[in-house]
Amino acid sequence: MALTAMQIYKSLPKTNCKDCSLPTCMAFAMQVAAKRKALTECPHISSEAQGSLSEASSPPMKLVTLGTGENSFKTGQETVMFRHEEKFHTPCGIAVKINASLSDDEALGKLKKINNSVFTRVGAELKVSLCAIYLDGVSDPAARAKLISEKSKVPLILVSESPETMKKAVAVVKDKKPLLYKATASTIGAFIEIAADAKVPLAISGSTLEELADLTLQAKEKGITDLVLSFNTEKLGTTLKDITICRRAALKKNFRALGYPVIVDIIAETPEEETVVGSIFAAKYAGIIMIEHCEPWEILPILTTIQDVYTDPQVPNTVEAKLYEIGSPDESSPVMFTTNFSLTYFSVAGEVERSKIPSYIAVVDTEGLGVLNAYAGDKISVEQVVKTIKDQKVAEKVKHRKLIIPGLLPIFRAEIEDTSEWKEVIIGPETAREIPAFLAKSWK
Ligand code: SF4
Repeated sequence: MALTAMQIYKSLPKTNCKDCSLPTCMAFAMQVAAKRKALTECPHISSEAQGSLSEASSPPMKLVTLGTGENSFKTGQETVMFRHEEKFHTPCGIAVKINASLSDDEALGKLKKINNSVFTRVGAELKVSLCAIYLDGVSDPAARAKLISEKSKVPLILVSESPETMKKAVAVVKDKKPLLYKATASTIGAFIEIAADAKVPLAISGSTLEELADLTLQAKEKGITDLVLSFNTEKLGTTLKDITICRRAALKKNFRALGYPVIVDIIAETPEEETVVGSIFAAKYAGIIMIEHCEPWEILPILTTIQDVYTDPQVPNTVEAKLYEIGSPDESSPVMFTTNFSLTYFSVAGEVERSKIPSYIAVVDTEGLGVLNAYAGDKISVEQVVKTIKDQKVAEKVKHRKLIIPGLLPIFRAEIEDTSEWKEVIIGPETAREIPAFLAKSWK
């Protein structure tokens, strides 16, 4: 039975020390009761209290860690069905497959691509999170696992249907805490033994959800609690329905046998289809997706989907409102302003960088709104722009008095010229992608 906040509070130290990043122990107890925090986030709770409360108070979906230390990946511990209810917590990870048919050199070549698949978007680093090493059919599975493990910058998934093969491979890389993928009804006993010996997480698949729940209970009885539910997209609609049922059963009914993160093997005929299907499951409700291809055009749409879905919808996505220097601008460089909505700022900054014309960007605080929304919502005005540019001492940086304004705010032009020292206001483009051509043409 679920614990109340008061029952949890009674077992807390009641010092209100804030080390759990909440202001009081009662606030923490309320979050734990609502399954939004784990008891372990209070570093001061006694082991007795933790032992007596942990099962009843633990989040309905287990947090599973693959890999170790800095080179680790966490999945699970989600608390809501829909992100507008609160937020999604642990972003879906992309695992790229290294197939058994590849030679060692080809496998290392693919791994190099995986290691180098790191991108920056809206100020955040996006990357491939894991590599999945296929072992069935490799002449020496242990050697292949070791070879990839030594060069990999991301945690590993060992893929084999055979307990014998898995046992050989995990023996040489168990210190890296790989995910064993995957046990089925016919191999569950042997895989439980291997996972228990190596102390590593285990993925399990079932032919039905009832069978899957039964298999996770068997694993749990043997002490394996780091479990991942495994699906593939051979029947796309059925899988989408099944993983939604798993999540609902765990979060709404507290059905712990399905309270684990989900891994989905994306099966597609073309790279384009893989990207589309991968994006669907990254949004709903996979913790990990396994894909074949990792060219930037193939994985960037999926990474972008993940970034968008896992952004906290209740926190405005902002950058600091200050003067930014792109490149090494000097006293002749262009000056422009934009808003502090991250997507707007990073779009503008990225295009200015692409123009190769060093510039100053004065960012105005619009409470995280883009240009048009800020104007419509009365969050940006000429007075505010002029004051921001003055406070940021932009005039001291340049000898000219030309100011480029967003093309969506042409109405600001005359008033800025009338009320500030910026006597030549230039109306810029309406979209960021037009900036390079605009600067090349208008800034001589
Ligand atoms: Fe209370 Fe523990 Fe949070 Fe400190 S860390 S405020 S003791 S719940």
